[in-house]
Amino acid sequence: MNVARILYPVRVLGPGERVGLWLCGCNRGCKGCSNPELWQRKPEFEISTDNLLRLIHKISDAHPVDGFTISGGEPFGQSQDLSEFVKQISVISDDILIYSGYKLETLRSRNDSATGYILDNVAVLIDGAYIEELNDNSLLKGSSNQKIHILNSGYSALYQRYLSETHNQIQNFTTADGIVSVGIHRKGF
Ligand code: SF4
Repeated sequence: MNVARILYPVRVLGPGERVGLWLCGCNRGCKGCSNPELWQRKPEFEISTDNLLRLIHKISDAHPVDGFTISGGEPFGQSQDLSEFVKQISVISDDILIYSGYKLETLRSRNDSATGYILDNVAVLIDGAYIEELNDNSLLKGSSNQKIHILNSGYSALYQRYLSETHNQIQNFTTADGIVSVGIHRKGF
């Protein structure tokens, strides 16, 4: 897989203390994208699914993991490896929230079992391209055209409560590569 970042505990992209992952590769080129450094896959970010899982288990062995948030880049650009990854992390938590620039209908219409597996096994998909003019500083959504699909009905109550009781926040992490600012940033950030 090509993964630029793993951060924990992410508290601003879904309920609880989450592992956040940012996958590389996206050719959409949305104006105002907050992660243009993730558009290109980079050799230094290549990691086998097994090694990625080892890192995840190091986190979950030492800390509570309430869920996972997978963003990018375009996560569904790596559907094959991602489906296996989703399968393996579900034993830690199946509260898996995933972002995609593709609409749910488009993903569903792919004749691709890996994409189907992901959609059948994640809790939430937030879909649609980022449109800077429609960034209204809302919780979880970069722009108002995007939609939050709760795909696992077992998580409906948790997410409805989270969406009604939480406001949008930014969380900054200090890493070896500098400060990484996580969350839905305001237009022009
Ligand atoms: S789909 Fe996401 S990562 Fe890709 S350009 Fe648009 S905002 Fe950036």
